[in-house]
Amino acid sequence: MTDDDSLSVGDFPEVLETGKPEPRKKTISNPYIHRLQRRHFLLFDVLPIIGTVAAFAFLWVRPFGLLEFCLLFSMWLATGLGVTVGYHRLFTHRTFKAAPWVAVVLAVLGSMAGQGGVVSWVALHRRHHEYSDRQGDPHSPNLSGDGFRGAVRGLAHSHFLWMRRHEYPNIVHYAPDLLRDRGIVRVARLYYWWVALGLLIPTVIGGLISMSWTGAVSGLLWGGFARIFLLEHIVWAINSLLHMFGTRPYDSRENSRNGGVFALVTLGESWHNNHHAFPESPSFGLDWYRLDPGYWLIRALAASGLAWDLKLPSEARMAAKRIA
Ligand SMILES: [Zn+2]
Ligand SMILES: [Zn+2]
Repeated sequence: MTDDDSLSVGDFPEVLETGKPEPRKKTISNPYIHRLQRRHFLLFDVLPIIGTVAAFAFLWVRPFGLLEFCLLFSMWLATGLGVTVGYHRLFTHRTFKAAPWVAVVLAVLGSMAGQGGVVSWVALHRRHHEYSDRQGDPHSPNLSGDGFRGAVRGLAHSHFLWMRRHEYPNIVHYAPDLLRDRGIVRVARLYYWWVALGLLIPTVIGGLISMSWTGAVSGLLWGGFARIFLLEHIVWAINSLLHMFGTRPYDSRENSRNGGVFALVTLGESWHNNHHAFPESPSFGLDWYRLDPGYWLIRALAASGLAWDLKLPSEARMAAKRIA
C-alpha cells in the first residue's frame, strides 16, 4: 500500500489542539497527498522491480548461493509476518492482544516491507473491508467494467496501479485507536527509516559473512529489493486474484476467495474468503489442517504469554455462514 506516515497527525492539527476530532470526510484528496503517493509508488513499488532485475544481472558477478538464499528467505519471512500478523491481524482487525514491545516489533517488521506506514496501511485496509468490491474500495478488481477487458483492467488496477494515486482514507476516522498509541505513532513517523533499515541489514550481513563488497551488494539486491518485490506481489495478489478466482466456502457480501495452494507462501493470507467472513479471527485457516503460518506465530506468542484474547469464531457462527 502507499503513503507517507508523516501525514499521521501533523496533517490534522485540530486533533492535537482540541483532542476531539470533529466529524469530517472519510477520505482526503489533495495535490500534496497525491505527490507523496507518486513518490512512494516510484520508490517502493517501481524501484524494487528495477532492483530485482539488477539482482539477476548481478548473477554474472556473484552467483546465487546459500548466503543469498538465507538473506532472501529470512528477510521475506520476518517482514511478511510483520505484515500479516502485525499490520493485518493485530493492528487492523485487533484479532488478539499483544505485549506492547511485541506490537512495536511487529510494526517495525511490517514497515520494512515498504508497503506503507502502519497507520496508513491500517486505514486503507479498514476501508477495503468497509466497501469491499463496491464504490469506495481502494483496490477492487471487480469495478473496471464487464467482459475480458474489464477483468484485465480490474486485475491491473487492484494489483498495482491503484497505488499511483488514490483517495487517502482519513486516519482520524479510520485509525483513531492507532493515533492514541504513542509507540505506534512513533514507529509510523519513522516509516522511511525502517524501510532503509530493512535494506541495510541484508547488506551488512551479506558483506560481513562473505567479507566482500560483492557479498554486500548481493545482500542488498536479494535480501533487500528482490525480497520487497516478492512480498509485495504476494500481498497484492490477495487484493487482485483472490477477489476474482478461488473457492468460496463462506457467505460474505463481497467477492473474496480462498486460494489454498498459496497458503504457505502467503503465510496464511490466501484464506481470504475465510478472513472476510470472520475478520475478527486471528486464524485465517480456521481449521488446523488449513496451513496458516501467521496463526502459528500468534499461537506461539500466546503460549509464551506474549499474546492473549484470541477471538476465534464459534463453531455455530462458522456453520451459519458456510455455503452448503
Ligand atoms: Zn483484513
Ligand atoms: Zn479483501
